[in-house]
Amino acid sequence: MFNNKIIGHDFQKGILKRAANENLVSHSYLFSGSDGIGKKLVANEFAKLINCKSRGSVDSANLDSAACVCGSCAKIDKGIHPDVIYVQFEGVKSIKVEQIREGVEERLFLKSFEGKFKVVIVDEAERMSNGAQNAFLKTLEEPPPNSVIILITSNPDSLLPTIRSRCQLVRFNTLAEELILEELKSRGDLSSEDAIVCSKLSNGSLGRALMMDSDLIGWRKELIQYLMHLKPDSAMSIIGLAEYMPLTSDPEDMERMTLAFEFISLWLRDLMLIKTDSDKKGITNVDLIESSMQIAEKWDLDNILDKMGALEKTRNDIYNMNANKQLSFENLFIRLAS
Ligand SMILES: [Zn+2]
Repeated sequence: MFNNKIIGHDFQKGILKRAANENLVSHSYLFSGSDGIGKKLVANEFAKLINCKSRGSVDSANLDSAACVCGSCAKIDKGIHPDVIYVQFEGVKSIKVEQIREGVEERLFLKSFEGKFKVVIVDEAERMSNGAQNAFLKTLEEPPPNSVIILITSNPDSLLPTIRSRCQLVRFNTLAEELILEELKSRGDLSSEDAIVCSKLSNGSLGRALMMDSDLIGWRKELIQYLMHLKPDSAMSIIGLAEYMPLTSDPEDMERMTLAFEFISLWLRDLMLIKTDSDKKGITNVDLIESSMQIAEKWDLDNILDKMGALEKTRNDIYNMNANKQLSFENLFIRLAS
């Protein structure tokens, strides 16, 4: 049932599959792990597994590689199964008590329509306010029969300890770079060189990797090449690069700026690795390795560490001190050039 579209997480899938097969399904689970690694997909597949109408009649080993087409699984796949409830609070900063009452409790306590289990999947559970969490706690303490609550979070520490202790914890790890690379190659949207860079930039999150397209990966390359050729005594080149940065407060520009910081930081890290690590395996910008090696020859370790410090300071100035972005970047680029 856990079909091929979920990559990795074999251990976690094994635990859940065993629970389903041995009728030991818990009332509540807490799926924790980084964003974009597949927790929601696994929750969805688990909802299918415990409600599947052909499970038991088919060898469960066979179900692993083929998507089930029974009425229940098909409806869950389409998101229209009446007993599988997705609780998402898009655009809401903090989930309030009333939202938990209406969104979860009222629906959870309705008798199930056609499923064996009523399943409630709460994404980004860490956004529940303390009040909402306390309301939720009551449901967790006295869950209706045949109900399964799955809380999903990338930040389990922001949930009350009493919530965490009520749930069976399933911890998801980030995905291996090789798995992500394999998946990117099989999707074929990126050149193989871009796919390697993307898998390295993904931090083990397939969701994050899939948000990067060849334009973004190309932009990263351009940015770093620009940095490599910055002339400390040329105001033109410093100002030119600062102008090249996305500096408005549009969410899109802000996101791009966050990525720019990350790209520059990873490139400086590459330079450190080139200087200190002989096998170069951890290098992110594999498409710039030759030119990075030339730069690394010119800069000593202290110089690179200084530049890293300047980058962190600029990041802090912009995000926490509301500094002027254009000026901050110009100052940063002067530091990076020298
Ligand atoms: Zn099925």
